[in-house]
Amino acid sequence: MIYTCYEMVRDCRADVPEGWIHFISHYVPVMRKALAHYAPEKAGDAALLGQILVKVRTRDSFIFKSTEPPEERWFVAQLRQLLVGELAAPAAEIPMDLETLTAALEPLTMTEKQAAWLETMHYSPAQAGPMLRVSPETVEKVRDRAAELIRGKVDSWRRTLLVENGAALGREAAGGAGKDCLATKAFLDVVDGRTTWRGREMMDRHLRDCWHCVDHFCRMLEVVHLLRGSQLLPESECEPFRTLLGVPASKRAGWKRFIGRA
Ligand SMILES: [Zn+2]
Repeated sequence: MIYTCYEMVRDCRADVPEGWIHFISHYVPVMRKALAHYAPEKAGDAALLGQILVKVRTRDSFIFKSTEPPEERWFVAQLRQLLVGELAAPAAEIPMDLETLTAALEPLTMTEKQAAWLETMHYSPAQAGPMLRVSPETVEKVRDRAAELIRGKVDSWRRTLLVENGAALGREAAGGAGKDCLATKAFLDVVDGRTTWRGREMMDRHLRDCWHCVDHFCRMLEVVHLLRGSQLLPESECEPFRTLLGVPASKRAGWKRFIGRA
């Protein structure tokens, strides 16, 4: 029997223990992977992880608030946003905003913009290449070009500007949805190879001018990367988190029921 993310969210909303137990066993490992990426120095910080989990369980978290059908990748993208929001990123010494980035990277194509944007998300060319289905060398070349274009638009420059401003740019992009912006499903259709040529053309055009959607698309690619090879949390490690969240032990026998990942 497969227990889907949809059922998990339904059970979490209804406060059925199985929902929360499934959440802990399936998504704590994903959260750890994201933490190790965004804050390697805090990767083993159980208190921080606990604090994030408690936020997920509060009534105003995305689990309760959102009206989107809870597809697993959408769910993990929400979780990632919450997690990144909890990390106190230091303000960049040389601040840069999306307006500057728009002006600088105007000549780049959609995929090239994604290659540059994944740098703000701290992904190396070796990591970003497979996400974008291009070679790491291509990512590197695009980033060198992007760096030069940015250099031409700012008074003060260094090569790490995108990484240093990553958190702030990510917040600005995520907050700036327009009326023509695309839904998560549109990006997942591309990831799953379900999009039409026409759909892809429209997306290309829209993403040329929209960092909100470039960011959204990149975050969906990131989710695929985060979920790949993710293992379940062993039962013994789930227990402290279950206690922390005040979730009663499941009455239904066995964890095996929850092993299926739909
Ligand atoms: Zn958009």
